[in-house]
Amino acid sequence: VRRNPGETEFHQAVREVVESLVPVLERHPEHLDPNAFERICEPERQIIFRVPWQDDEGRWRLNRGFRVEFNSALGPFKGGLRFHPSVYLGIVKFLGFEQVFKNALTGMPLGGGKGGSDFDPKGRSPDEVMRFCQSFMTELYRHIGEYTDVPAGDIGVGGREIGYLFGQYKRITNRHESGVLTGKGLGWGGAVVRTEATGYGAAYFTEEMLLSRGRSMGGQTAVVSGSGNVAIYAIQKLTQMGATVVACSDSDGYVVDERGIDLELVREIKESGRGRISEYADRVSHAHHVSGGSVWDVACTVAIPSATENELDGRAATTLVRNGCIAVAEGANMPSTRDAVKVFTEAGTAFGPGKAANAGGVATSALEMQQNAARDSWTFDRTERRLHEIMRDIHASCFEAAQEYGEPGNLVLGANAVGFLRVADAMNAQGLV
Ligand code: NDP
Repeated sequence: VRRNPGETEFHQAVREVVESLVPVLERHPEHLDPNAFERICEPERQIIFRVPWQDDEGRWRLNRGFRVEFNSALGPFKGGLRFHPSVYLGIVKFLGFEQVFKNALTGMPLGGGKGGSDFDPKGRSPDEVMRFCQSFMTELYRHIGEYTDVPAGDIGVGGREIGYLFGQYKRITNRHESGVLTGKGLGWGGAVVRTEATGYGAAYFTEEMLLSRGRSMGGQTAVVSGSGNVAIYAIQKLTQMGATVVACSDSDGYVVDERGIDLELVREIKESGRGRISEYADRVSHAHHVSGGSVWDVACTVAIPSATENELDGRAATTLVRNGCIAVAEGANMPSTRDAVKVFTEAGTAFGPGKAANAGGVATSALEMQQNAARDSWTFDRTERRLHEIMRDIHASCFEAAQEYGEPGNLVLGANAVGFLRVADAMNAQGLV
């Protein structure tokens, strides 16, 4: 805390991992000396830069850009870019730290990193977003590359922004280096299923948690928070699996549709129109919208928080458990507070931490990198089958590790143990770096 003052989300993420690793470090004293954990908590490199740009009225604007290159023991730094006014170093570091373990869990050769800016894309014209992305990349380009650091999207950065960023990278470097960014458009190096991957992966992970407890997805009632990239495709896959998703949200409130959320309408509102989720209730007479409030007040048996960090607190967790929720999988990064995780653990609710449950996105990014390197493109079915396999493997390795370290069913411990040992072993093998 003294070394990284004010970075509360980073402290929260580190504390969660340290606390759960006690039984692992007891069995692996080689990681105490030299202290692999201390080195894992220190990013290899942190870049903070000025991003000047011009708005449509010709006014000069200024934002701050970040890229935290956290750990490259397993492969090039890999992780998304977030554009949101709340972004500061503490958020980027927490996301980068989580990413290191998540990427290790996929079993793919990926290091961890994260970046972004306090730029708020909301209300900005497409031209303004393009000028901002170009200015952002004008600094970022010198730090990234197929073998160095490979950014992707996150909150506020979707296909459109990746397009502008890639265009500027290509223009500055004079290289069509497909592997430098993932989440690209399908016509120019992107891979099918990448858009759907995080949401689909979270749904697959939830199914594995249910199966491990003798349950299945058919007939479950689900609530998914958010209505962005992760939420939309979690809703789609849960519905395909036979669950009824009754509510979703955005930062203004939530919408309830007991007959099941009409995904095409959500996509029309959010993806095409970039509108607000309240429009859903304006257009569907049997649905209703609640301004503000907590989407977790809506009764469900399965919950997939897919909006943002700390959106689900102890009170919300207690309400979920009281309403009969049996499984929670984090589609977002660290959406559950420490209190919430404690409530789920004590109640015996199946809980999938984000670094495991939402790893499908980065895993599919690695598949995109594979296809770019091989100048190949896979079919949707083949890619989705591979994603499903990866999510099953991640669940199985977390489940087995929880058993091995004496806390069966504790997937937080399982995920941290597997991720930490893979990275720490590689770091020790590479010497004092
Ligand atoms: P998007 O920008 O596509 O969507 C974010 C959604 O969350 C929007 O509906 C947004 O509503 C809502 N939201 C944001 N802040 C709040 C808030 N304070 N309260 C309520 N709702 C809020 O982002 P993604 O779907 O890509 O990302 C969502 C989460 O998933 C993040 O935690 C991200 O780090 C994580 N993640 C994403 C991956 C990916 O592949 N995209 C991969 C792994 C994790 P509004 O429009 O009102 O802001």
